[in-house]
Formats: sequence, structure tokens, C-alpha cells
Amino acid sequence: TNMDAKFQAQAEKPHAVCIPFPAQGLIAPMLHLAKLIHSHGFHITFVITEYNHNRFLSSQGPAALLPADDFNFTTIPDGLPHSGELNVTQDIPSLCASTSTTCLSPLLHLIHKLNQNKPTVSCIVSGDFMTFSVDAAKELGIPVVSLWTTSACGFMSYLHFQQLFKDGLIPLQDEGKLSDGYLDTPVRSVPGMKDMRLRDFPTFIRTTNPNDILLNFTGTEAQRATQGSAIIINTFEELELTVLNALRSMLTIPIYTIGPLFLLSKHNVPSGPVSSLSSNLWKEDTTCLDWLDRRDRASVLYVSFGSITVLSKNQLVEFAWGLANSKCDFLWVIRSDLVREKNYSGDDMEEFLEETRERGLVVSWCPQEVVLEHAAVGGFLTHSGWNSTLESLSGGVPMISWPFFAEQPTNCRFACREWGVGMEIGSDVKRGEVEKVVREMMGGEKGWEMRKKAMDWKECALNACQIDGQSLVNLERVVREVMLPQN
Ligand code: UDP
Repeated sequence: TNMDAKFQAQAEKPHAVCIPFPAQGLIAPMLHLAKLIHSHGFHITFVITEYNHNRFLSSQGPAALLPADDFNFTTIPDGLPHSGELNVTQDIPSLCASTSTTCLSPLLHLIHKLNQNKPTVSCIVSGDFMTFSVDAAKELGIPVVSLWTTSACGFMSYLHFQQLFKDGLIPLQDEGKLSDGYLDTPVRSVPGMKDMRLRDFPTFIRTTNPNDILLNFTGTEAQRATQGSAIIINTFEELELTVLNALRSMLTIPIYTIGPLFLLSKHNVPSGPVSSLSSNLWKEDTTCLDWLDRRDRASVLYVSFGSITVLSKNQLVEFAWGLANSKCDFLWVIRSDLVREKNYSGDDMEEFLEETRERGLVVSWCPQEVVLEHAAVGGFLTHSGWNSTLESLSGGVPMISWPFFAEQPTNCRFACREWGVGMEIGSDVKRGEVEKVVREMMGGEKGWEMRKKAMDWKECALNACQIDGQSLVNLERVVREVMLPQN
């Protein structure tokens, strides 16, 4: 019968288990990749942590993540104790320590359970910093693709930690090295990356402790990602060609650039229940789109520091008055947990909000990809997270960069030096500097040049994601060459 035939077809599908690192900026690209693989005929099991599952439910309501026939969500514990308080950004070092030491056995258990039914699991897509799943795949004898959700330049920098150790450049000898110009030391040994300084490496090197969790964990994880069957990087060839060539000559496994994933999924996943699945851990405020509709072309500075960055009260106030004094229109995302101090009342922002009422809008979380594509947005003050960087390039929007942690300084360096679309703000935020850079970006000649350059990148990104584009071709290749059972 028809039913039997349908059942049979379902049972014979290839089955990918996708397991992202449990943070917003790493879950979203994995979900886009999962949708794309699904549209190539795969059955998908998408693994999230119990903690984030609860956050999805509280931000999107009970209908969130409802299982479909062949696209299921399932959970494993992240191994951390939870107080029950949700909607706070999790402690990243603890999360790294706990996922790497506690998640392998729940994942294996889950896969054994899945394999009691058809289709059996035929490959794993491992998120960055989740390489216990590379071990799981080896134990099961199935292929594993490591998705690297951030830049190729970031990836190369993490891989280079080993060399920095060998050269005695890290860990830092004493705290003074953080401020005495030591971070400006040029590092000429990075393949495919010229003009690097110590300060352009992921921030985890800024420690005097040789046993620092993040320093050791992130470097090792990048190395271990190269031990799977293949690597997918969420970037596009033209953007990082030199680094990619260097990576390819260093590593023996294939590297596929399949990005920007959000754009690839937008243009290639057929619309339906799967395409509309969202991975937002915060509730979106879409009223800002109407507000943007009423603004002039390229007149608004969009300000957001992503999902993890936290600011001190003082930094928040300096950014605020820099923006106010620039007299420019702005849309600013202030997450409920953006300010580091607990129980921050926001009192010292009232005067700023009053003064900028006519030209500024503050929201707690917005549909950023749509915002960056809006014609009214002419600049982006960002922490240079990789998703934000890709979304900005794809929207043709130049950036003012205030890198906060991880490989954000590397992304910032490339945006400013290589791609011609960025200006940096010093880590010690001062309102005068913010005002000056914002004016230059939104009204100055430099800003105008960068906007032109960003428009070129936009076209490149779009081309990569359309018919015959390199990212789309690479997606088809990785599916055929690595993910489908080879027989
Ligand atoms: N984002 C969003 N709405 C907001 C702020 C951020 O949708 O109001 C999304 C943004 O589009 C991006 C992600 O959150 O995809 C942030 O990722 P990124 O890699 O830039 O930084 P991270 O949060 O990992 O530091």
C-alpha cells in the first residue's frame, strides 16, 4: 500500500544527528545546516541541552520545536547544576568543562536508543567545541563532519595556539603583559594570515595560567575537530581564500566552505514547517521593523553585542552618551542580561533615553538578519561575533567593532585590515571616541567607502548561496562525498 511504501522510504533515509555547542550563536548555524541536509533527503535528529530546551519553550511558547516526521528535536543534559532560573547567559567556561567531560555517554546512549528504530543513525554533525561527538562517531563506525560555525581565520588562530605555546609567547609571564604593549608583538608564523599580533588571537590567550580551562580547551578542541571525516566552515571562499588555502595544505581531511549558512538556508530550503523552525533563545521584538521603515536610507546605526557579551554599567553609559552625542539615529539591542552587575536598575540611562527619544529605539532582542538587510541601516556597532559579521556583510553594512571575547578580535582584525569594512573602538570605551567613530562611519568619507566595499561582499555572499554558487555546490559535495553511506 501507499502507507507501507512511505514507511519504507522513511526507514531507508540517511539519518544525521546534529549536536551544536549549547549557545545561541552556535545553535543557529547548526539549525540552518540541519535544514539544508534535511532538504537533501536526510532524517534529522537535532540534539539540544535540556537547559536550552526550556529556554526555547519559554521564548517561543509550547509549540516550539514540535517534532516532525523526519526532523526531531531531542535533549541531553549539559552536566551543569541548574537553579531553575532561565534566560540568563550560561557560564561558558563551566559549560565547556562540563560538556566535554559528561556528554559522551548520554550521546551514545541516545544514539543506541534511536537505532532501535529505523532509520539508523548514519552520520554525526558535530558542533565546534563538541568533539566528544567525534569520539562517539568513531566508536559507532560512522562518518562525522565537524561544523566550524565561526571564521576560517578564527579556526586557524585556535589551531595555532600550539605553536604559540612552543614559541613561549603564551601563557603570559605576568599580568603586566596585558597592558605593557606585549600584546602588540607581531606573530609572523600563522599560515595564510599576515600582519597578526598577539592581540588579534582569540582572547583566551590573555592569561598567565598555563592550566586555564578555555586556553587549553579551545586550542585542543580545534585540533580534535580535524580528526573527523571532514570540516564544514561557515564562511565563503572569496572572503577567506588565503586562510582556507593554508588550512587545506596543513590538514589531510577535506574542508568545505558552506556559508553564510543563514543565507544558504534562506535561499535553498523549501518553505514549510522545517524552514520556519527558529532557534531563538530570546523573544523577538519585531516592532523595530516598522520604526526602521520610517527612517531614511542608510541613516540608522544598528547596535548589538550578540547573545553572550556583558558590559559593565560604566561601559553601557559610555556607549549611550557616545551615541547620543553623535546625533545619529540608532536601534540598540539591550538584552535583559546585558549588564554585568546583578539587579542593575537602569536609572542612569533615563536621561539618555529621554534625550534620544526622537531618534533612538531600544529593544531587548530583534530579528537581526532582517534588520541588517533593511535599507535604513547604514552601520553596525558590533562585538564582531561571527554570525553578526556574516549577517552584516550579507546585508552590505559596514561595522564599528568592539571585540569582547573568543575569536572576535581576529574577526575584527580581518574586517578592518583585509575586508575593508570595519573600524575598531578601543576596549576601554570612552564616549568621545564612540561619538567620533560613529560620526565617521555614518557621515564621513571613510564610512561611505566601507559601505561600498560591504555592498561588494554582499554580492559575493549572495552569489555563493545561489545556483552554481560555491557554498551551494560544496553543500551538495559534502552530502555526497562524506555524509551519505558510501557503497
Ligand atoms: N541576534 C538576534 N537578535 C538580536 C541580537 C542578536 O537575532 O537582537 C542574533 C544574531 O542575528 C546572531 C546571533 O544572535 O545570529 C549572535 O551571534 P554572534 O556569533 O554574532 O555572537 P555571539 O552571540 O555568539 O557572541
